[in-house]
Amino acid sequence: MGADGMGAPPENVLQALLSYIQFTDEDAELLKRMGPEVRRFFPRVVERFYEAIYRTPEALKVFTGGAAQIERQRDRLSAWLEGLIGGVYDDVYLERRARIGRTHVKHELDQRWMFAAMNIVRRELHAALTEIGWPEDERTRGHTAIDKICDVELAMMLETYREDYTSRVQMNERLATLGQIAASIGHELRNPLAVIQTSLQLLGRRVDDERAKRHVKKIGDQIGLCNAIITDLLELARDRPPERHRLDLVDLVRATLPEVPRSEGVTITGRLPSEMVAVLVDSSQIRQIIVNLVLNAVQAVGPTGEVTVTVRALEDGRGELRVEDNGPGLPTDVVRRLFEPLFTTRSAGTGLGLALCRRITEKHGGEISGGNRSEGGACFVVTLPPADRSAS
Ligand code: ADP
Repeated sequence: MGADGMGAPPENVLQALLSYIQFTDEDAELLKRMGPEVRRFFPRVVERFYEAIYRTPEALKVFTGGAAQIERQRDRLSAWLEGLIGGVYDDVYLERRARIGRTHVKHELDQRWMFAAMNIVRRELHAALTEIGWPEDERTRGHTAIDKICDVELAMMLETYREDYTSRVQMNERLATLGQIAASIGHELRNPLAVIQTSLQLLGRRVDDERAKRHVKKIGDQIGLCNAIITDLLELARDRPPERHRLDLVDLVRATLPEVPRSEGVTITGRLPSEMVAVLVDSSQIRQIIVNLVLNAVQAVGPTGEVTVTVRALEDGRGELRVEDNGPGLPTDVVRRLFEPLFTTRSAGTGLGLALCRRITEKHGGEISGGNRSEGGACFVVTLPPADRSAS
């Protein structure tokens, strides 16, 4: 185990597990040797694996991307099987495996399905090994090697699942507590804001001077913004499950873009396809994502700049929303923390916008990521589940 605890702990996890179950070089060698022969049975393993999922509504509902998503996962399962009996169990192997545990957390897959699924893989690999007709002694040792590596796999998945799950729970708790405090303050601010708004309207009717009128309008806009912030906070505190309906993402973006406040020198261009992009989403929540991302982009570009919002249907039917800007982009340390609640680099920022975007996206079974464009500026991409679950 060589490491002193300061380095990446996952390396220790794998080594500790292998040593605990006395996984030997001979086991690795046997798995590597059976690889080429067992590989032809992979389609059958994959078939059995997904048959079980199709039989089980609770496991199936994780695949919010429908048939197309399952198809992608089939290919990944084959690649995963290759690794399983590849005979090389190093850091790269561990990192690939750890990613699977994290993906399970992301898709809210209950741990019991991991056990059930591994059982199918194990059973099918044993059957395949029996069928290739190795001499009895080698076959027996081969079966043991399969068992050992399957146990290690499962333990690693559970370990990364637990780590990721714990950190998400902590983050959500933090979000919930802060959200509740902030929301109750926000709620209290709603009344005085409403009074200001009413008085402003009355005042506005009596103002003739053009400059004064502009100021009245500015105050009105800012009140609108305050209300929007309060809505965000309340939404965050409420943690409302999405009420999904089939709708056209193109329409939603087209209707939302004019609502985003911007200075005169900033242009927001919608690159919208003429055909519809049907997604299964909660319209007010997705509207919130659009506003947050576009507002961030507008704020990033400063007094003059360009923001482009692109909508398209991906090949598998999912809808994609892309918000790009020609602002300063995201420094590396910001990229890492983008979606952390309360992380902000702006003096007037709350650091809640992207945390909220991520939570909404994940509740929809979608994905969100942020990065830099090669030509400069930031780019945020959101994918959303198709309206038609069997879309492909
Ligand atoms: P807030 O906007 O209140 O700061 P967010 O969660 O929306 O909170 O954003 C977190 C941080 O991410 C921002 O403070 C900013 O540093 C960075 N960020 C978000 N969008 C962009 C963008 N388009 N360009 C550059 N930085 C951005």
